[in-house]
Amino acid sequence: MQVAVVGAGLGGLSAACHLAGAGHEVVVLERQDVPGGRCGLWESEGFRIDTGPSVLTMTGILAEVFAAAGADMADHLTLQPVDPMYRATFPESVGGEMRVRHGRPAMTEEIRRECGTKEAEAFGRFCDWLTRLERRVLPDFIDRNFESPLSIAKPLWPALDLVRLGGFRNLAKVVQSYFDDPRLVQLFSFQSLYAGLSPFDALAVYSVITYMDTVEGVFAPQGGMHAISRGLAAAAGKAGVSFRYGVEVDRVVRRAGTSGPAIGVRLADGELVRADAVVLNPDLPVAYRTLLPEVTLPIRVRKAEYSPSCALWLAGVRGAPPAGVAHHNIHFGDYDSAFKALIGDGNLQPDPSILVSLQNHTDPTLAPEGCTTIYALEPTPHLGGRPDWTFERDRVKERLVGQVRSHGYPVDDVVVERFLDPMDWERLGMENGAPFSMSHRFMQTGPFRARNVDKRVPGVVFVGSGTQPGVGVPIVLLSGRLAAERVDELREVRA
Ligand SMILES: Cc1cc2nc3c(=O)[nH]c(=O)nc-3n(C[C@H](O)[C@H](O)[C@H](O)COP(=O)(O)OP(=O)(O)OC[C@H]3O[C@@H](n4cnc5c(N)ncnc54)[C@H](O)[C@@H]3O)c2cc1C
Repeated sequence: MQVAVVGAGLGGLSAACHLAGAGHEVVVLERQDVPGGRCGLWESEGFRIDTGPSVLTMTGILAEVFAAAGADMADHLTLQPVDPMYRATFPESVGGEMRVRHGRPAMTEEIRRECGTKEAEAFGRFCDWLTRLERRVLPDFIDRNFESPLSIAKPLWPALDLVRLGGFRNLAKVVQSYFDDPRLVQLFSFQSLYAGLSPFDALAVYSVITYMDTVEGVFAPQGGMHAISRGLAAAAGKAGVSFRYGVEVDRVVRRAGTSGPAIGVRLADGELVRADAVVLNPDLPVAYRTLLPEVTLPIRVRKAEYSPSCALWLAGVRGAPPAGVAHHNIHFGDYDSAFKALIGDGNLQPDPSILVSLQNHTDPTLAPEGCTTIYALEPTPHLGGRPDWTFERDRVKERLVGQVRSHGYPVDDVVVERFLDPMDWERLGMENGAPFSMSHRFMQTGPFRARNVDKRVPGVVFVGSGTQPGVGVPIVLLSGRLAAERVDELREVRA
């Protein structure tokens, strides 16, 4: 079949690799000049700074996407383990600094040294539980297409096994049942924020995100995260996918005006690109509104709740960071109030926790000699929250830069800088200014998340973080495979 993939984000690229591998004729239409979408790169004055994801986990899933296109990941991407995976600093009330080490033996030793033997033994039991949880959750509840909400219980035994594993208990309480040290509780529960959830309210099943970094490990590609986008595009190209950059798709074209199956897309300049199936990678609510204006938004999209957004300060600076820093540095503020503010009240964190990633720490070629790349991210409410970003923008930026300075990073000799707030994310095409899309609360997860097909528009398949299975690099890559499966189903129906 001829397939048009709109958007070369990681979802679109993964779909293209899988589709080409399955023998389809694929064209990718991307409005930017480069692949990657959110997994982008900013180059200026000799600095190369990632503009989106920074923490790479579950690299096996990435390797499977390359393999789907008949490629070997090692030919396109060099991955390095990041160790320590995170350096965490805590406020005085909690105390000190800890390193989350790559690999279970190193982390067990770190915990033994910092927190004692009992906590180190608990870490072993915790990793075993995380592993059992992941083995159940990934194949049965994440990496599959669902036909309806009822299919979550078909077959029934995986759901029963999840109950047995404690997946429906409270996440924070489960983590607290393993560890007494509050630092470890924070380090192994904060990941629920990636899914837009507070660990104090989330189900323990979301600890599968903790599995992804804690057990599978964090990696950094040579050349920065954007190298993933370029690598996937190159592999897809070799498999026969054609790429057209700098072309904006205007709408999906349907056989009978606004009701028949999709027969292609129309570009902003009026050109018609014919296709038997159309895969849409723009943020799902935006894709409906702009490319399928005749179709009303599905109810679960209209009523969706979004994950918190973020403020991001990217800078290339002269000077070196203080001794002892890591690639990823999490500076925790007051943990409990952060979630209440962000998720409960839609407000800025009173005492912000921030992530500072120094990408040239692992790959020195990303900054000129004697310089440092700084990527400082503060989780904030999305545009539905209380701050009015027109007025808050400068204050939030100043506060964030001040915090980065207070942790000892060199910020007084800035060569290049950029600041993005939720209004910028909205301008870049993300509904509600939320780069982490709809949250993963239970009723927006698995079969309850916006579907990747809509029977009102045959021939259209959605891909990316707005649809099933959800947000984050590995999960979006899986959405590409699931989208390709949907296209294969169309081929079977039409054969
Ligand atoms: C600041 C930030 C930090 C993050 N940190 C992490 C992290 O550390 N780890 C992690 O796993 N995930 C992280 N994420 C999330 C992860 O980056 C996303 O879930 C993922 O990249 C989304 O990919 P996507 O394919 O769904 O969408 P996108 O990347 O948004 O791709 C959509 C593509 O469609 C194109 N497009 C849109 N409209 C049109 C049109 N009309 N015509 C043609 N093309 C169009 C866009 O240009 C874009 O290229 C982060 C995201 C951000 C923004």
